Amino acid sequence: INGIVAIVGRPNVGKSTIFNRMIGERKSIVEDTPGVTRDRIYGKAEWLTKEFRIIDTGGIQLADQPFQEEIKMQVEIAIDEADAIVFVVSGKEGLTPDDEYIARLLQRSGKPVILAVNKVDNQQLNDSIYEFYALGLGDPIAVSGVHGIGIGDVLDAIIQSF
Ligand code: GDP
Ligand code: MG
Repeated sequence: INGIVAIVGRPNVGKSTIFNRMIGERKSIVEDTPGVTRDRIYGKAEWLTKEFRIIDTGGIQLADQPFQEEIKMQVEIAIDEADAIVFVVSGKEGLTPDDEYIARLLQRSGKPVILAVNKVDNQQLNDSIYEFYALGLGDPIAVSGVHGIGIGDVLDAIIQSF
């Protein structure tokens, strides 16, 4: 194992969809209900010569906690356990205050953060990535978990961060 990667982001941005793509199997349950990932949170991925473990932090849930507490715990687990963090946002919904909250927690961690703008399902939507430069986490990567676009770019960025 070359490293551990955690996927973080607010509910419904597509974390589990991307996680499934990276592990190459449908082992995490994806639902339209925000934040539902019950089946599995750990997976293994290989890319080029590297092998790493992936944690879908969206599947780690606290009962009856306010959103910010829940997400803070998920991000803390990601920061403690991971060598690199994939922060997923949605180009379809655009930048939200919750994204900004998570970005601040990640910035304090000092861990490498890969910013994946999901739901960029076609070329015409590509301009939706630019507003995410405002998060101060570097170059956003356009991704479509559903269509399998940009996953290779995210995997490249992950192994470069190890
Ligand atoms: P999570 O809560 O962050 O784990 O998000 P999920 O992976 O469960 O996805 C939430 C919803 O977004 C589901 O309805 C997915 O089908 C949808 N979704 C995920 N990735 C994409 C994508 O690349 N494009 C579009 N249009 N929808 C997506
Ligand atoms: Mg999920």
